[in-house]
Amino acid sequence: MLRAGSSTVGSVRMTRLETVHVEALVPERLEALIGAERTDEFEKTAAAAREFLAGRRVVNVNSTATGGGVAELLQTLLAYARGVGIDASWMVISCHPGFFEITKRIHNLLYGAAGDGGPLGPEQRAVYDEALRINADDLRSVIGRDDIVLLHDPQTAGLVPHLRRSGVPIVWRCHVGRDEPNEHTERGWEFIRPYLEDVDAFVFTRAAFAPPWVRPERLHVIPPSIDPFSTKNMDLDRSQVRAILEYVGLAADGTEPSGVTFTRRDGSPGRVDRRVDILQTGPPPPLDAPLVMQASRWDPMKDMAGVMESFARYVDVSTDAHLALVGPAVHGVADDPEAEQVLDECINRWRSLPAAARSRIHLACVPMHDPDEAAVIVNALQRHATVVAQKSLAEGFGLTVSEAMWKHRAVVASRVGGIVDQITHGQTGVLVDDAEDLAAFGAAVNDLLDEPARASQIGEAAHARAKEEFLGDRHLERYASLFATLDASRGAS
Ligand code: UDP
Repeated sequence: MLRAGSSTVGSVRMTRLETVHVEALVPERLEALIGAERTDEFEKTAAAAREFLAGRRVVNVNSTATGGGVAELLQTLLAYARGVGIDASWMVISCHPGFFEITKRIHNLLYGAAGDGGPLGPEQRAVYDEALRINADDLRSVIGRDDIVLLHDPQTAGLVPHLRRSGVPIVWRCHVGRDEPNEHTERGWEFIRPYLEDVDAFVFTRAAFAPPWVRPERLHVIPPSIDPFSTKNMDLDRSQVRAILEYVGLAADGTEPSGVTFTRRDGSPGRVDRRVDILQTGPPPPLDAPLVMQASRWDPMKDMAGVMESFARYVDVSTDAHLALVGPAVHGVADDPEAEQVLDECINRWRSLPAAARSRIHLACVPMHDPDEAAVIVNALQRHATVVAQKSLAEGFGLTVSEAMWKHRAVVASRVGGIVDQITHGQTGVLVDDAEDLAAFGAAVNDLLDEPARASQIGEAAHARAKEEFLGDRHLERYASLFATLDASRGAS
């Protein structure tokens, strides 16, 4: 049974930067998927990037090594960058819970939401500055003048003034945003803008996310990518999917589940040993029942409770479908202090549902001790799902959407943020215009459950779209053009 633990108000603790080791991946293995012509194109770009980055390191800095889209995309990007001979590395800042409370506030504001409504005054700025000053000291000692620093998200913006003094080129990439600014986004930007005046380039997932003070010549639009060979996305056959889901407790067919092996990201064998922590009234969903699932961090913007409510009220019992809401174990994502509260709210909502609805809805927390094991569990769920939901109220990109599309799944998602760049409504997925409209979301899910032929047609088109736009070669090519501009602008200044 899933239980939310007590809240942790940790003592202020500062430790050094963590380096995340990423195994290089040879991009040749993409050739079988993208074909010879696209591989050639990519090799030319890679050769040019190698030459121009010779002797320079690209140092990425973010605030968590696991959990969430940024950690996921850095794994993919660095693996392929290193595979083409670019010296790319990844460091994670280390900050205390008080810092993450402030940065989560900013994160919510940049999504256009009020969040916890807490202050962002001089006191918060002092906490934010001090935590980053300590990390910046560490960072400066390992960065060379010729390196390029790529800072990710509001958690790292305050590093800019410190690193600037080293003369190193700085790119700041923001993975969050809202298409239309509102009073909350203004407030979020007001806090971090002073740190960003001097960055050499900004990267946003969508142009609309950039605030008006970002000069157009410094603005680059780069969507993320997925790695089709990672543990999260690699092919799993039907029997592996079934064995994983049965073992972790997310599906049942009446037989005794046994452990299952898989291939880790680095190619070594792995074994699913841990069970998922599940809240459900009875047995897990039968293997032959249609499954609707959403995998997301426990974050208010993902509206897990809305998915539940919509499913309970508007998805016909006659479909026999079950819903799995799946997120990481609540202490598994270092920079996400709201997870426990969001999960608690979902549990309370679940408890208030009629018994019949509760028996079809399963809340699951995936243990994060072993990131490959966690990834293969999400992979199996996405592959097993009849419909994948992403009912976000706001979304930077939504890697979960590309992941599901890659797996030939029909996705029902809100028409918000980067989701719109992935799904063409009615062709590569289904978009619901109003993210708050529970009836429309439920109806869209229902339609796909009722029309398996349409769902599978959409799934095929979705796969083709993910292959065309969201694999690692595309991502690296977009970065290569950015780096070229960066050097040109430095030369000009
Ligand atoms: N994810 C996961 N375990 C979970 C839920 C989500 O590994 O229990 C992954 C998901 O597969 C995706 C990432 O977390 O790779 C979420 O990225 P996305 O861009 O969708 O959203 P973000 O968390 O960055 O807001």
